[in-house]
Amino acid sequence: MTGETRVGVVGAGIIGLAVARRLAGPGVEVTVLDKEATVGSHQTGHNSGVAHAGLYYPRDSLKARLCRRGIGLLKDYCADRGIPYVECGKTVVAVTEEEVPRLRDIEERARHNGVPGLRRLSPEEIREHEPHIRGVAGLHSPSTAIVDFVAVTRAYAEDVVAAGGTLLLGTPVTSITRDGDVVHVVAGDRRHTFDRLVVCAGLQSDRVARLAGDDEGPAIVPFRGEYLTMRPDRAHLVNGLVYPVPDPRYPFLGVHFTRRVDGTVDIGPNAVLSTAREGYRRSDLVVRDLAETLAWPGFRRLARQHWRMGVTEMRGSLSRRAFVAGARRYLPELTAADVDGRHAGVRAQALDRDGTLVDDFRISRLGPVTAVRNAPSPAATSSLAIAEHLCEGLL
Ligand SMILES: Cc1cc2nc3c(=O)[nH]c(=O)nc-3n(C[C@H](O)[C@H](O)[C@H](O)COP(=O)(O)OP(=O)(O)OC[C@H]3O[C@@H](n4cnc5c(N)ncnc54)[C@H](O)[C@@H]3O)c2cc1C
Repeated sequence: MTGETRVGVVGAGIIGLAVARRLAGPGVEVTVLDKEATVGSHQTGHNSGVAHAGLYYPRDSLKARLCRRGIGLLKDYCADRGIPYVECGKTVVAVTEEEVPRLRDIEERARHNGVPGLRRLSPEEIREHEPHIRGVAGLHSPSTAIVDFVAVTRAYAEDVVAAGGTLLLGTPVTSITRDGDVVHVVAGDRRHTFDRLVVCAGLQSDRVARLAGDDEGPAIVPFRGEYLTMRPDRAHLVNGLVYPVPDPRYPFLGVHFTRRVDGTVDIGPNAVLSTAREGYRRSDLVVRDLAETLAWPGFRRLARQHWRMGVTEMRGSLSRRAFVAGARRYLPELTAADVDGRHAGVRAQALDRDGTLVDDFRISRLGPVTAVRNAPSPAATSSLAIAEHLCEGLL
């Protein structure tokens, strides 16, 4: 392509801004459009803040490749920009003998993915890292880190503007029309014409992609993840990150203990079907969101298969005691009095029409429009690598 290329990016979350900063520069005019007033308002601003080292992801998946590359790029970027990035390490803990074979599977995957410094832990060695945590076996990843992804996203936004790009916040995209080689986009009260459009709309990614004529599926099903915050005087019970052995049937990692860069320790997130895509409280309900979830054929299949798990998660959501009891399997001295604050994030989980939870990152291309259709965890960790991958051959 010759001359000035006009690129539109929908979404000022960590993925949209990583893509925008990669493209902005001489000969490329980048405009980022977001409906919210600030960057990183949704998933990017409501996550666990963990830079994942790449333990879990299936061999040769995009997640495995882009997470490993992404964490290295992220660490260097944070060093360059003076953003706190703390390698506090992660301990994955098996609490029963039945979980040990699955822990070994994770170790094998992690070694295949090239995760550095892994160490198997005996119960005594678990206590060397985490004196209050109990388990029958553990796996330690020293390079797993914590970071403030909103600070990273703000820095990406600064890079975009410094490279001559434009950030239009409070600007919802309501219409996308492909017209030969170009795309017309109505956003706020203006009509833009772009040579390329990249959709990174997170919880709305299926709707925005459909506006551009992309396939109906996968649909986004929102899963709220609730966290309880440990009282500051009890935060010393956890040093770094403590994770369960995940259930391979689900794409979520399970309730974990997460130390944040500000020193607080959170317990969570669980995974409860959300009745609003951007609903951070249990009481939030958007009728259109719920109706679309229930009407999606894939959701009905998923619900029939996994209703038991849904009931368990719902119980933990409704009862602090039940939530704490789950966490107590790892930290026996934890009581309901040790937690006070509560907050939540909502995951955009893509679900195929046949009820398959889409596990890997998924990106679709339709003429001049590229749409990120699934970018769940570890997409924040992988953002710079996802941007490299997505931008290959884009212009
Ligand atoms: C509870 C939870 C815990 C997580 N923990 C981790 C973790 O520890 N480590 C990790 O690597 N990842 C984690 N993730 C995943 C990570 O947060 C996401 O993968 C990442 O933030 C996705 O970024 P995004 O830019 O695609 O989406 P978002 O951050 O959701 O951004 C999408 C943007 O699109 C905008 N938008 C939507 N529709 C429109 C429209 N019509 N017009 C204009 N703008 C629009 C939205 O306003 C939003 O700003 C977690 C996620 C959750 C929810």
